[in-house]
Parts: sequence; structure tokens; C-alpha cells
Amino acid sequence: MARKRFGQNFLHERGVIDRIVTAIDPQADDALIEIGPGHGALTDPLLARVNRLRVIEIDYDLIAALEARAIREPRLHVIAGDALTMDYAAIAAEAGAALRLVGNLPYNISSPLLFALLASAAPITDMHFMLQKEVVDRMVAREGDADYGRLSVAIAARASATALFDVGPGAFTPPPKVTSAVVRLVPRTPDFVIDDQPVFDRVIAAAFNQRRKTLRNALKNLLGADDIAACEIDPGLRAERVSPAAFARLANAAARHF
Ligand code: SAM
Repeated sequence: MARKRFGQNFLHERGVIDRIVTAIDPQADDALIEIGPGHGALTDPLLARVNRLRVIEIDYDLIAALEARAIREPRLHVIAGDALTMDYAAIAAEAGAALRLVGNLPYNISSPLLFALLASAAPITDMHFMLQKEVVDRMVAREGDADYGRLSVAIAARASATALFDVGPGAFTPPPKVTSAVVRLVPRTPDFVIDDQPVFDRVIAAAFNQRRKTLRNALKNLLGADDIAACEIDPGLRAERVSPAAFARLANAAARHF
């Protein structure tokens, strides 16, 4: 039975599973981690490609079945617990390699998990996640796009994000209410400098909380119009037109006030 509180929508469509595995292109020695293996829709084809697969699952009924499986299949390593509070740096140290993460993520934990992973000290090569399409659209949007917002800028400051393909509700049991999409995230240092990450996050929150307002008004508690202009940004612009690099300049100016 699917448990709603664990965001369980199990993938059953073979074609979708194959496309995800092809996109990941797992190599035998990869330190591959699957978050939320469930009944193993992705686990089985991944296990066929790698020497060792670590899976993190929170639901004790599913863990019992996975552990029984791991006795027969020693390449499967089951980590029982909450993916939100795992020590990924310790897992990478134990694996002796940068992590590759994959998961058909429960929608209720996807944003906090992504930010925890992007902020973690663990070396991460890449991540392939199935998320709500609406979230993926916001992650990959650029300034001027309708979906551009706080999430787009926060992701751009930490990773390159590519939307790979959409997946309709019919690919899952039970079907979710919304369309999903698979995204590839590759952590990277952006080509702009952020002096103070919390201030950067505060500036983008303030700018997009009042997205119909101009920067001059939305940021008035953080920066004066002169400070904004000194960053070579028009204080009359709205946040939706401001690039991640320009937000970094604004945040660095704001950081100097604190
Ligand atoms: N990978 C399977 C599939 O594609 O059919 C299951 C996907 S289902 C959307 C999400 C899975 O994540 C479930 O197995 C659920 O129990 C597990 N899960 C939910 N919250 C979790 C958490 N905080 N940490 C680890 N696993 C979690």
C-alpha cells in the first residue's frame, strides 16, 4: 500500500525507467546513491550497472523487503533513515568517491533535500531527480522567463540544472495529481562571486517576495537606490529581470552594510 505521508507514487512505466537510467549512464565504479528506492523500480536496473548501490529509505516495511534483498544481493547496501538528515559527507568518505545521487523524490521533501545536498560538504558529481514539473520549470528558468524566481536564482548560484524530460501521472501508482519531470543538477561554483551566502539568500527572498515591486522598493530595508545603481543595476527593474550575477552584486553590496 502506498503511504501518502512518505510521498509514495511508485513508477511502473518501463520506458520512463529506461530513460532515467540512460540519462544517468551509471558506470561500474560510481558511488551511486538512490534516495527512496520504494519497491525498487529504479533500484533493479541501476543495480544491474554498478558494483555497489547504496539506497536510503525511510519506510520500515520497504526497508525490511530491501534488507531481505540485500542478503541475496550483497552489492545492494541499505541505509535505513531520513534522507533529509543523512550525513552525505560520511557516505562519500566511506565510498571513497564523489557521490552520484538519483531518486524519484517524494514531493514533500524535494526542496529541503535539494538545498541540504547543495549546501552539504559532501563531494557530489551530479544528481538526477524526478520532481514536480512545475518545480523543475522554476529551477531551470532564466531572467525574463515566466517561471523565473527565487528558486531559479538559488539553484543558479549552486548548480547547473537541465530539465531532461516530462513524465505524465499515468507512469505512477497511484498517479500523482501533477505532471513530473526529470532534472539533472551538477553542483558548481558560479562564475560570479557571492561574499555571504545567507545575505544573498535574504536579498533574493526580499526581491521575489514582492515581485511586482521595483528593486528600489522591494530591497529598501537592505539597500538604497544609490547602492543599487552603484552595482550598475537600474533600481526601477523588477526582480524577474535581474540575472543571478546581478543579484550577487546586490548581495555583496548589502553584505558590506552588515
Ligand atoms: N523509487 C521508487 C519508485 O520510483 O517507484 C519510489 C518513489 S516514491 C515517489 C518515494 C520514496 O521515497 C518512497 O519509497 C518513500 O518511502 C521514500 N521516502 C519518503 N520520504 C523519505 C525520506 N525522508 N528519506 C528517505 N526516503 C523517503
